[in-house]
Amino acid sequence: MDNEGFRIPRRFVARDAVDEELDRLERALRASTDEIARNRDAVNRELGPQYGAIFEAHLQMLNDPRLRGEIEEFIRGRNYSPEYAVSRTLRRYTKVFQSLENAQFAERAHDIVDIEKRLLRNLLGRRREEISRLTSPVLVLAHNLTPSETANLDRAFVQGFVTEIGGPGSHTAIVAGALEIPAVVGLGPFLTDVSGGDVVIIDGNRGEVVLHPDDETLAAYRQEITQGRTLAVRLEGLRDLPAETADGTRLELFGNIEFPHEVQHCLDRGSNGVGLYRTEFLYLSSEVEPTEDVHYDAYCDVIRTMSNRPVVIRTLDLGADKIAQGRAASTERNPCLGLRSIRISLRNLPLFRTQLRAIVRASVLGDVRIMFPLITTVLELRQAKMVLSDVIEDLEENNIPFRRDLKIGMMVEVPAAVIMLDQFVQELDFISIGTNDLTQYTLAVDRDNKDVADLYHSSDPAVLKLIQMAVASARRRDVPVNVCGQMSSNPVYTMLLIGMGLRQLSVTPSAIPEVKRVCRSVTVPHCEAVAARALALENARDVKNYLKEELKKVIPETTAV
Ligand code: PEP
Ligand code: MG
Repeated sequence: MDNEGFRIPRRFVARDAVDEELDRLERALRASTDEIARNRDAVNRELGPQYGAIFEAHLQMLNDPRLRGEIEEFIRGRNYSPEYAVSRTLRRYTKVFQSLENAQFAERAHDIVDIEKRLLRNLLGRRREEISRLTSPVLVLAHNLTPSETANLDRAFVQGFVTEIGGPGSHTAIVAGALEIPAVVGLGPFLTDVSGGDVVIIDGNRGEVVLHPDDETLAAYRQEITQGRTLAVRLEGLRDLPAETADGTRLELFGNIEFPHEVQHCLDRGSNGVGLYRTEFLYLSSEVEPTEDVHYDAYCDVIRTMSNRPVVIRTLDLGADKIAQGRAASTERNPCLGLRSIRISLRNLPLFRTQLRAIVRASVLGDVRIMFPLITTVLELRQAKMVLSDVIEDLEENNIPFRRDLKIGMMVEVPAAVIMLDQFVQELDFISIGTNDLTQYTLAVDRDNKDVADLYHSSDPAVLKLIQMAVASARRRDVPVNVCGQMSSNPVYTMLLIGMGLRQLSVTPSAIPEVKRVCRSVTVPHCEAVAARALALENARDVKNYLKEELKKVIPETTAV
């Protein structure tokens, strides 16, 4: 898909339809020429001919006989559809201009992209293929996919996806985990190198994409897929065994979910419950605001399937990269530091109360716990709790049943909260460390920005020290502490987290077996020694490399990175 979401599959036209298709191309060329000429004339009038010249150049390119000849040859000689022929030809031109290290030529590349889009628009017209209406298996290669677009990908057909922009900690990447499909987010520019029908390998484990692989590479990957399946089958054997260290310390492994159907993924992997239910996806998957009953039904679904295992429902964490479908992206200059998460809920009480009522009503059905995201000050926590008390009071007055010992917790994902955590824990039943945001806010690195992705490391010693502080505060008050950021889904960090005193981890469901395998292969003193050593290192890369080495010693065949 290009920036405008056009999808250009490799299509062939029947031999006897070639003339008709050439006519279609001709019409699209003519329509595009007319449009550009109109633009040129308008700009000439309004701004003067020096600006109109930009469009004059477009016209010349579009009507260049060589370019036309190449497109026609693809249709006549290879029976390509006009869309595919246009896209192949113009992408090749774009590529050539991009490869010339000259700013002026690079600008020309933009012009060619523009021409390609205009031609495709005229060719495809209303026949534009919608990503939401797929009928056969595809890999989605796109400039960008928002978390809500990703959440709405059709799992029956989308086998994997790659985006040019976005960061490793973005929710688009997290949703890929939920969909259980291979994905690479923030690969950088590559779309001009591919066309529909090309063979592409998406290596989600290593964050790599192989375009036009040779036979040897294909064979190697096929073998890796087979090995992966064998390992998954082997790990299935762990499902009913506890996540217990070799020296007998019990851990609890919970699942992080975005959609109710993932509860089954959790159960299939033997999780002890749901440690983080990201309820904002109820908004991201729908064009209208969910009613109390929509919330309630989703929660009931999750709670019933989990049958008395803990279910931690996090209240809405909208904003930043999580924007509901059809809504404009934030115009804030710093959305991550702006109106997001609990801040939105506290300023929009009807929305917040609707959700809280649904959670509290559903709480009679199981071990429901409620968690507030992005809490930064004690005052904010108290305000959120006050709204909750108010909702509970209302339900009580109306004789609507609810769980009286509903546990209340908060996400610890802002450094200010860690620093002040001794105060917070006095008013909480549990905490959960959100390392995705904690990393973003500690290192001042946007988790969603590929340009600073090389600076985004949960293994940074500063992040580790904050986790250590948070665990210490929780322990002082005997408050259970969990880690639910992506860090806990990566087996590279399991020994470190155990060594730092964590006994609960909440992870992407598909990661449960691998993390459990690490837990069962190590002892607590060993993990403590590893953590002490890691905490003494100076930078994120050294920490990660050290942890990888240690993991390899315990599980030599690990592919974790
Ligand atoms: C986190 O920030 O670590 C977290 C678990 O929440 P989210 O990824 O949804 O922001
Ligand atoms: Mg967060």
